[in-house]
Amino acid sequence: MEDKGKELLFLEPVCTHNIWGGKKLREEFGYAVEGDDLGECWGISAHPEGDGMIRKGSYQGKTLSQMWAEHPELFGNLPYDRYPLLTKIIDAQDDLSIQVHPDDAYAQKNENGSLGKTECWYIMDCKEDATLVVGHNAKTKDELDDMVAQGRWQELIREVPIRKGDFIQIDPGTVHAIKADTLILETQQNSAITYRLYDYGRLQNGKPRQLHIDKSLDVITVPAKSAEDSVKSISSLPENQLNQIYTCEKYTVFKLDVDGTATFRQGYPFLAASVLEGEGRVNGDEVRKGDHFILPCGYGEVEAQGNMSLILSTVEK
Ligand code: ZN
Repeated sequence: MEDKGKELLFLEPVCTHNIWGGKKLREEFGYAVEGDDLGECWGISAHPEGDGMIRKGSYQGKTLSQMWAEHPELFGNLPYDRYPLLTKIIDAQDDLSIQVHPDDAYAQKNENGSLGKTECWYIMDCKEDATLVVGHNAKTKDELDDMVAQGRWQELIREVPIRKGDFIQIDPGTVHAIKADTLILETQQNSAITYRLYDYGRLQNGKPRQLHIDKSLDVITVPAKSAEDSVKSISSLPENQLNQIYTCEKYTVFKLDVDGTATFRQGYPFLAASVLEGEGRVNGDEVRKGDHFILPCGYGEVEAQGNMSLILSTVEK
């Protein structure tokens, strides 16, 4: 009998159209989606707005949310009511609006029982001298309220320099946005609750997009975490081993750079993997840039071969 616990679960990504998107997700990553406004690839997602489908193997055609409900053993029988994470590749060709997310308690109360949103970014590519928005410059809640009420955005918004290979944790309450020409891998909670604080005064179809000032002010953390503590370079990790780059209550994230052969043990409830660059094999399966797959619970020994770079994630048991 075939051992289904030894089977990788390959996901068919769901791509979204966004005014700030581009063509890279199709042309560089090979996702077969029309349009020159592709902003996000939801690579590993069981969210109702983009529920990924298994694209081959024993479970072909099932969505990730179905897999979660029907085969909890493949995810370590975790005590969550839904697949807890969402992995995206985001290609920003224009500045994104400046946003903030609530935590679980606020979202539960004010957003129909949704999860809050903690997220983190791995910078896959950006221009030289690139920046992004993380945190703000208000020292007190009163100062924050005043700056927003008076539209002192330049003073309020904090831009920090970034480089390819940086990692940024976005706790709930953190003001954040990526800017044009930035490609990121985002690992986040399975939630789409976003409050838009500022949109640079831009118009869409002649009108400004809706802002959520009151909810934003409710949830923004004051003062913000320091700029130095917000961005961490992880560009020189050892090759051929699973490097843990971040862990918090909501997820643990790893980077794996394969050059030759890497072996490690999949002893986590599950490991969600995305190939950022290159190609190779994982045990019997060929994988390449743009592939997203899950190593299920009980998978055991993993042998990855080739020349490729991956980000992986899991949650606590
Ligand atoms: Zn966000």
